[in-house]
Amino acid sequence: MWWKINRLISAGLAGLTLILWTASTVQAKEGMWIPTLLQAVEGDMQAMGMHLTAEDIYSINEGSLKDAVVHFNGGCTAEMISSEGLLLTNHHCGFGQIAYHSTVEKDYLTDGFWAMTREDELANPDLVATFIDRIVDVTERVVSSEDRAEAMAAIVAEFTDETDLEGKVVAFDFGNSFYLITTRTFRDVRLVGAPPSAVGKFGGDTDNWVWPRHTGDFSMFRIYAGADNQPADYDLTNQPYRPGHHFPVDIGGIKEGDFTMVFGFPGTTQQYLTSDAVAHVIEVLNPMRIGMRDASIVVINAARAESAELRIAYADKQSSVANAWKKWKGQNKGLTELHALDQKRGFEADFNQRAAVAQNEQWLGVLQEIQDRNALLFPLIEARRLFIEMAYYGPDVLNFSLGFGGLIESWEELDASEELETELSKAKGSMVSFFRQYDPGVDEKLLAALVEPYVAAIRPAFLPTALSEFDGDGAAYARAIFSKSIFHDRDALAALLAKPSKKAFRKLKKDPIYKLIQSFRESYFTHVASDYRALSTEVDSLSAIYTQGLRSLFPERAFFPDANSTLRLTYGKVEGSSPYDGMTYLPFSTARGILQKYVPDNPDFDLPVDLVEALREGDWGDYADADGELPVCFTGSNHTTGGNSGSPAIDGDGHLIGINFDRSWESTMSDILFDENRCRNIMVDIRYVLWITDVYAGAHHLIEEMDVVR
Ligand code: ASP
Repeated sequence: MWWKINRLISAGLAGLTLILWTASTVQAKEGMWIPTLLQAVEGDMQAMGMHLTAEDIYSINEGSLKDAVVHFNGGCTAEMISSEGLLLTNHHCGFGQIAYHSTVEKDYLTDGFWAMTREDELANPDLVATFIDRIVDVTERVVSSEDRAEAMAAIVAEFTDETDLEGKVVAFDFGNSFYLITTRTFRDVRLVGAPPSAVGKFGGDTDNWVWPRHTGDFSMFRIYAGADNQPADYDLTNQPYRPGHHFPVDIGGIKEGDFTMVFGFPGTTQQYLTSDAVAHVIEVLNPMRIGMRDASIVVINAARAESAELRIAYADKQSSVANAWKKWKGQNKGLTELHALDQKRGFEADFNQRAAVAQNEQWLGVLQEIQDRNALLFPLIEARRLFIEMAYYGPDVLNFSLGFGGLIESWEELDASEELETELSKAKGSMVSFFRQYDPGVDEKLLAALVEPYVAAIRPAFLPTALSEFDGDGAAYARAIFSKSIFHDRDALAALLAKPSKKAFRKLKKDPIYKLIQSFRESYFTHVASDYRALSTEVDSLSAIYTQGLRSLFPERAFFPDANSTLRLTYGKVEGSSPYDGMTYLPFSTARGILQKYVPDNPDFDLPVDLVEALREGDWGDYADADGELPVCFTGSNHTTGGNSGSPAIDGDGHLIGINFDRSWESTMSDILFDENRCRNIMVDIRYVLWITDVYAGAHHLIEEMDVVR
């Protein structure tokens, strides 16, 4: 059967792109559109209030909006707001860097940071900012080739050889189409400004994913380039990058019903999950992951309350663990309230019926085929998720110890190839940044807390051997591991690196922390990874057939390709929502609400005294709305997801009116099931960003760099 699937995919491809983009009724709000194909929705956007053309948004010949949109460190979005490399993103996107530069003495998390001169801007070791050069549909070439991998490599080479560009061919829509994306990545990106966390994270976990919102979720960086305006390694002689386009910043004000669009890099959506897979998310995956994070959040929050050092050291980890933890809870609530399973099952019955009428055997059988494979895939997904939870969101030392793998496992080869010095200096470098945000006591408690839910959730076939002796006492287990390891011990490791020897590194092979992570990896890579990959590929190929069927059998609907971290545009309006009976969310929040939420000494709602005074004083400068209030956040009906954090919120003239940073609680299920009536994205109003920067922080020089439209 499998060979048939491959053939089917290729056969069904011709004309697919056309069907996708010429669907007769395009829904205004659902959808994340590929920028090269905006002609299909241009008219709709213009009817809603956009005064630009598709070419103004994405052009390969002229400067266009896309030249001002940045993939920020591969995970967030950012935008250029001056001709001198100034970049705006979310506070939570720059949080890792702000935390990295913070110490008890220079606590930028608490006090904020503002570089008053260019010399004060702070370098960030691994931070990168990527621009899209061009996006080219290469579907025909890829699918008609004998060897797809070879064809893709040839395409990339054709577009990037002898240029400064990087490129890759990305599959969209389960492999129904392929695009070449060429990019230019800048490596010298410096921190310019960040408000105190009491502004940037105002509301903390309580308000995260919630409307009404009063968070000034922004930070500023500057991209530097070599003398030729091209990417360069960090160097004091580098110059601010001159982008192809930067957004004018519009403080003229917005009103309900105004057109908005969000241009950025949405990470992942799963709109085409079949009903059994949605049930698996609701009933198994989300509870399992929430359980793991419940356990680690208790440890991290308790540690952060203990001392200033730990509050700073674990700020970044807390945010990354708690963000998805809360989203998954909202997602389960929303999917249940929307009767997602009934909706999906009903839709699938409809699909099968239409497939029967169309007498199309492939479409008729495809849902069952997906579900048959899913039954085998689900346990593997669970094991994979658990591995990720433990190795990447669990005790930090596990992953850190792996960085020494080269020295431990292949000293001789390194020695012979003269790469030993490089590896040793890499290890020294990783130690410096690792121990800056680390505490062995907290890490041991994390292992103690996580091992129990992990063992309870993992199926016996996937249990790492290192855990077979676990007898239910997490604290004792973690003690036994940590007490005999040196990876959590800065001094012991430093001593080892000061006098490195093959013998000493070989001994580390038996270090219990190193053995533990190796055991997790061994179980994952031996029993999970390859089956997971094979089955996922099969499900993807079947899903490609399913989505072809959808487009053909439901011509009245538009189906967009799931988000895949590529540049997309979504559009809608400034609008509120009414998610429950008897309840309406207004689309705007103002500074009044900040003071209403203010609770001294409450970690989520405390404010710096000078900010309270400034807010009470109410000197809004140029930044007040028509009612004389300072706008803070607003909601819109733009279809966004994680990765859209930091994306520019743009008005009908292509001006920046805000920064996207979140969704409302009732929207958290939108990655799986979008609902036009409930789903709203949350943006920080650019006037609040400028008021904090200009009036509160006194960084007026940054405003002068911008093109401010009044
Ligand atoms: N706040 C979100 C995030 O950090 C953005 C979103 O998913 O809408 O992922």
